[in-house]
This record gives sequence, structure tokens and C-alpha cells, in this order.
Amino acid sequence: MNEQGIPISGAGVSADRSAFCHEMANVLLQKRADLTQTIEQLKDAGGTVELDQTRMGRLSRMDAMAQQQMAKAGHTRLTIELQRISAALKRFEEDRYGVCCRCKDAIQAERLMADPAAPFCMACLEEIAEEKADRP
Ligand SMILES: [Zn+2]
Repeated sequence: MNEQGIPISGAGVSADRSAFCHEMANVLLQKRADLTQTIEQLKDAGGTVELDQTRMGRLSRMDAMAQQQMAKAGHTRLTIELQRISAALKRFEEDRYGVCCRCKDAIQAERLMADPAAPFCMACLEEIAEEKADRP
């Protein structure tokens, strides 16, 4: 069997890199499970506030609303993170995990360890940041 069509560049790739990608995929699967659970819990928390409002004083209702706001913000943030993780797992299924979505170069292992869902290599990330900064 021959590995085909995997645009991984650089020396010393292959078995080690493949094992590393599998390891990262396992981390991502675990993260996805955790995130899904946390998001469900946040949904429940939002619902509980509504129900409890009748027996709360004005101040605690404000607190509850602030908490609900935070839960909402957290929910949005976690949902985005979940999407990133799902996208990374999809790339893994398609044998493109660890490959930069922009320049098709291999993403540095250190970077993947810090952020297993990283879609871009460090160089591209910096370029993207610069492009964003250029815009008014
Ligand atoms: Zn790149």
C-alpha cells in the first residue's frame, strides 16, 4: 500500500507524523465530547433561570440575567470551538489533518499540540492577522 495524495511536506514525516495526527484526533474527539456536554449544560442553565424568576427578588433576578448573558456568551464561544473541532476531525477523516488549509504545508507539531483544531500553519496565521489588521 502506498500513501497517496497527502500533501505533507518536509522530511521525517510518515509513520511518526501519522501516529501524531491520530493522537491529536483522539484529543479532538475527547474535546468534542466534553464540549457537547458543556453546551448542553449551558442550555439547561439558561432554561432554569426563566423558571426561577418568579421566586427571586429584583437583585437576584439581575444576577440571574447577568448569569444568563454569560451563559449565552459562553455558549456562542463554545459552539464556535465545537465547529473548529468538528472541521479538524473532518480533515482527519479526509487525510488532510495537520495540513495548512491555506498553503497546504504541514502545520508545526508544537502548534497542533497547543491547538489541535488549528487549521493554519503559523506563517499563514500571521499573514491572515496582518491582512485583517490592514483593513480599516
Ligand atoms: Zn500555511
